[in-house]
Amino acid sequence: MKEVYNFSAGPATLPKSVLIKVQEELLSYNDSGMSVLELSHRGNDFEPILEDCKKLLKELLNIPEGYHIVFTQGGASLAFYMIALNYGKKKVAYVDTGVWSDKAIEQARLIPNLEVDIIATSKEDKYLSIPKQIKVASNYDYVHITTNNTIEGTCFFNHIETNGVPLIADMSSNLLSSEYDVSKFDLIYAGAQKNLGPAGVTIVIIKDELLNQGKNNLPHMLDYKTYVKNNSMYNTPPTFSIYVTKLVLEWLKSFGGVKAIEKYNQDKAKLLYDFLDNSKVFYNPINKEDRSLVNIPF
Ligand code: PMP
Repeated sequence: MKEVYNFSAGPATLPKSVLIKVQEELLSYNDSGMSVLELSHRGNDFEPILEDCKKLLKELLNIPEGYHIVFTQGGASLAFYMIALNYGKKKVAYVDTGVWSDKAIEQARLIPNLEVDIIATSKEDKYLSIPKQIKVASNYDYVHITTNNTIEGTCFFNHIETNGVPLIADMSSNLLSSEYDVSKFDLIYAGAQKNLGPAGVTIVIIKDELLNQGKNNLPHMLDYKTYVKNNSMYNTPPTFSIYVTKLVLEWLKSFGGVKAIEKYNQDKAKLLYDFLDNSKVFYNPINKEDRSLVNIPF
């Protein structure tokens, strides 16, 4: 088979050992005589897959007690709206760092009577940096950041000081590729197709306090409480995407976990940044301390 280098941001390349395992197990999962694609989500074989996936996420991300992990559909793009719908009551704060944060802001603005403030932006800097010393007034319902800006190639390497305001992060393009202290965040979400698995599942990690503050009487499929109450099985979850995600998480664990992959990503990124910084032909315009480890435009 001819192999190519695949640099797509997502759906992105998956570990080959994972693809081989999928192939090996595809016709009969766990001697069930059925493909994983055909298993009932409420059956004896699928439930352990979902539970293992949550267990591995908890372990790899060091998620403390007091958080729930749910699997949703509709990508990070639906989460843009769901977050504002569930937790935006009067006034919400966004940090604008590029295309994806703009889209999140745009969706929040669809919620009637919700004030949506951009409290910091790097727009004047053509999004070549991450805003610093962000001040969050204590009367916001939440503050939203995009940790890794896939298109622009910038990254928040730390959380921000939030003055007690719940911190929500879109980590679609760097969840599990760098270490973050989950306890500093109230909600983290990520479409799986970049670092975690195939397209079709979105990982959402929600702190119980925020969950309990969510609005009531929302459409079931747009209410994060529905997913928590029903263990992500109110309706049929994207079973195959969850299964492959579980295999990728097992692979990451055997790689040495997030610390090990972060080091690997740092070394890999350094190779390319060093080359670009010394090139007479190409350059990377991003402020050095804000350079993404996983998306490197040039
Ligand atoms: N946020 C970020 C940072 C992204 O990179 C992307 C996808 N490129 C999205 C959100 C949208 O994700 P999805 O396609 O899962 O809706």
